[in-house]
Amino acid sequence: MAWAAVLSSAAMTAKVPWLPSQLPPGAKPERCPRCGKRAFIPWTLRRDDRTKAVMRTWVCTECQITQERPEPE
Ligand SMILES: [Zn+2]
Repeated sequence: MAWAAVLSSAAMTAKVPWLPSQLPPGAKPERCPRCGKRAFIPWTLRRDDRTKAVMRTWVCTECQITQERPEPE
């Protein structure tokens, strides 16, 4: 029942947000603050409920560190 093991592991990993592991085409990455590689790209946007500011989550495709920054509107 190998497929059952695949299904259960997929269900477990679905709980964590998916992070990119490769640079998307046309990306202009910045230098990652942790690993220092040019692999730090803007990722998801969200609006902060409290401050109403738009926040951009940046992610490093090499070491998967994430960082939120205010996004200019
Ligand atoms: Zn990194």
